[in-house]
Amino acid sequence: MNTARRTLIKGAAVLGALSAASTAVIAQPFLFSPTTELMPKGKKRRVVVLGGGWGGLTTARHLREAAPDLEVVLLEKNPIFWSCPLSNKWLVDVVDTSFLVHSYTEAARRFGYTYVQTEITDIDRDKKRVHTAQGFVDYDWLVVSAGIRVSYEPWFGNDRQAIAYTHTHFSSAYVPSAEHLALKQKIKSFKGGTIVMTLPPPPHRCPPSPYERACLMANYFQRNKIPAKIVILDPKPRIAPIGGGYRLAFDDLYDDIITHVPNAAVKELDPFNKVVKTAAGDFKFDDAIFMGHHQAADLVWKMGAIGKTSDGKPTMWADVHPEFYNMKNDPQVFVIGDSVGSVSPQFGHYPKSGHVANRMGRSVAQYIAQQSKGQPMKPEIIDNLCYMLVNTEPLEAISVKFDYKMGPEGHLLQTLTDDNDRRQALWQEDLRWYGTKIQDLVGS
Ligand SMILES: Cc1cc2nc3c(=O)[nH]c(=O)nc-3n(C[C@H](O)[C@H](O)[C@H](O)COP(=O)(O)OP(=O)(O)OC[C@H]3O[C@@H](n4cnc5c(N)ncnc54)[C@H](O)[C@@H]3O)c2cc1C
Repeated sequence: MNTARRTLIKGAAVLGALSAASTAVIAQPFLFSPTTELMPKGKKRRVVVLGGGWGGLTTARHLREAAPDLEVVLLEKNPIFWSCPLSNKWLVDVVDTSFLVHSYTEAARRFGYTYVQTEITDIDRDKKRVHTAQGFVDYDWLVVSAGIRVSYEPWFGNDRQAIAYTHTHFSSAYVPSAEHLALKQKIKSFKGGTIVMTLPPPPHRCPPSPYERACLMANYFQRNKIPAKIVILDPKPRIAPIGGGYRLAFDDLYDDIITHVPNAAVKELDPFNKVVKTAAGDFKFDDAIFMGHHQAADLVWKMGAIGKTSDGKPTMWADVHPEFYNMKNDPQVFVIGDSVGSVSPQFGHYPKSGHVANRMGRSVAQYIAQQSKGQPMKPEIIDNLCYMLVNTEPLEAISVKFDYKMGPEGHLLQTLTDDNDRRQALWQEDLRWYGTKIQDLVGS
């Protein structure tokens, strides 16, 4: 008998003895259960961060520095961090996968917090408890940075077949997931014809990025001599932000490929017969990217943090303090990133960007540190900055900057500056911006 076989039999004998002795006590010794405590609390007060995206990673890292006395636990369902920023460039091979993908375990080791890969299933704010597929975790402070959900219900109601079909064949790759791989394969294998791309009604994740995607796809088809047409169905009356820069790129570089259709809100979609009816007319397509409506992540709905309009309807987004991002009736519970609802009567929502989620994460780490020391929270003003690549030969980008200040009437004011002049220097700035942010999120 060889050694491996002997070891196996020995192991089986031990397991057999174990189970005979303790079946009643431990029926499944190595399996987690949603109803048991995943991580019993020690003496330290604990912050639980939900979602390891742009906001969550930033919060976890900065909390360790700002409040070393607190235990920090990051819960995330994905095994690796996948960045949406720069993903449009990755779709057409301007950057490789190593730009987008980073290790959660390395970041957790580097900064000294606990990362658990698990699906979060519910939040019980009365018990200060987060439920996961592997058990529950109790918290003293909670930070939710769970991103968005993409909803096709406004088009299909409860027609699950149409929703599943659209998601399978025409998904948008707007959340960190395998959809990006599917879209890349779609672009690479496209042989020609018309691709329609719908934009979600505002507010939605990264407003300038669908136009960037259209430019880079057009650029790819042009370089590879694929007879493609891209029709952008935009519910807005004009391209925004960076409308001037995009208009020039569409007209100068991709006139024979891109058609931008304004005021084209989707009224009806037949994904099986490939027809979309919009307020600006009906369009047949060979392939498509359908960006469903964006709403706050499921977890924000489950925790009861969705705001209400004056007539009692859900706003679809989290109702939190505009500078501290905590819940008015639960000040140790924070929601940050794309899920945050309107923060100002002047401009409504912050742009739903990685830059903003990162800035909010840094601020919330300070606010929790201040709360933990019994100090008043000192409000921080954030900003936003986005670079969008519109050409690859040469590599040229345009950009938009958002500045904020507190107005005399006590609400936030926004100034938006488009840089429409496409040039290589902005692409270099984009790479520097991204490198600094990734360093802040994962430390490498
Ligand atoms: C194509 C594209 C290009 C973009 N370009 C830019 C750019 O150039 N600059 C910029 O600033 N922004 C850009 N963005 C926007 C940016 O990606 C988002 O604004 C940012 O990721 C928001 O951060 P977040 O923390 O709110 O959400 P996310 O980064 O999406 O993180 C949410 C995390 O929560 C996890 N999660 C959610 N629910 C659960 C659950 N139930 N259990 C466990 N885990 C859960 C998710 O897996 C995810 O990891 C772009 C987005 C797209 C799609």
